[in-house]
Amino acid sequence: METTINKREQKVTLPEKLEFGRIFTPHMFEMDYDAELGGWLEPKITDFRDLVIHPAAMVLHYGLEIFEGLKAYRQVNGNIALFRPEKNFERFNHSAKRLSMPEVDIDLVLSELKKLIKLDEDWIPHRDGYSLYIRPLMIGTEPVLGVRPGSKFKMLIILSPVGPYYPEGFKPIPIMATDKYVRAVRKGVGECKTGGNYAASLLAQKEAREQGYSQVLWLDAIEQRYLEEVGTMNLFVRFKDEIATAPLAGSILPGITRDSVIRILKDWGYNVQERRVSIDELFDAAKEGSLLEVFGSGTAAVISSVSRLKFHDDIIHLAEKDFGELAMKLYHEITGMQYGKIEDRYGWIDLVE
Ligand SMILES: *Cc1c(COP(=O)(O)O)cnc(C)c1O
Repeated sequence: METTINKREQKVTLPEKLEFGRIFTPHMFEMDYDAELGGWLEPKITDFRDLVIHPAAMVLHYGLEIFEGLKAYRQVNGNIALFRPEKNFERFNHSAKRLSMPEVDIDLVLSELKKLIKLDEDWIPHRDGYSLYIRPLMIGTEPVLGVRPGSKFKMLIILSPVGPYYPEGFKPIPIMATDKYVRAVRKGVGECKTGGNYAASLLAQKEAREQGYSQVLWLDAIEQRYLEEVGTMNLFVRFKDEIATAPLAGSILPGITRDSVIRILKDWGYNVQERRVSIDELFDAAKEGSLLEVFGSGTAAVISSVSRLKFHDDIIHLAEKDFGELAMKLYHEITGMQYGKIEDRYGWIDLVE
């Protein structure tokens, strides 16, 4: 994993260990919205700097915030690639709409993002598994304490070089299902990437960590029976004759990796179903021996195999040492396209030129 993947020299010296989202490139994208001035103002690429913000800005009081997460990859031939980036900005607009925030012009933002990446391209690590993490966000900046949709917003995009999610090889993760807390309910904001969803999830994550589990498996908020998603990943369950994942019914995040996994698995001939799977069904299948793998999908780790799964006092043991077979195959397929090692059969790669 530590091999240098292209001939072009890396001009910026990056730290050997890149902690996720700890260092940032020298520039950022910035665009302000002001309803009184007719909407979005000129987009700008500026030096990376601290923001000056009014203490009454709506984001600080009512959580008026949305974000996205995607990556730029340095491909084996030196090209810079994005993976289905228009999907991220479509989802950004979906989150914006739900939170009464203004939508953005996707073509404009994507072309500005490419300019920004080009400007800071020396910060894209040249090593396999490394990438430049891209974080678009929007906040409500109107300085008023009244609770109502705002009229002033700021959109930013910041960039952070990141290392591989599994620097020491592919290690499956232990997860813990909880019925003590819920993440999101249908018709709420569970399908939006908005800060509040994550703030609400941290206590459950902390308690899971205290028990030796790295992520929380969320169950549906109404019956607390059906599998929803895990931390910042969608969840797939591989039974003997079927691969199942929760349907997009409003409470889970519609992952772009999830969508890509479904497409690839169907093309590989698997029976993929978007349906509800209860925690009882999962434990029954484990007992009968028809549960083969459980894995998560998301931009940060791409694919994560689950080593063991706990609910109340019961534990299912899965891939204790190595990734599950199909999880590993999916990881190589998706990262293969991202790093330009295999053909982009779906037209998912968008080059930054
Ligand atoms: C971002 C995210 C995902 C994964 O989405 P991708 O588009 O695949 O990165 C899944 N669940 C939650 C809660 C998320 O925030």
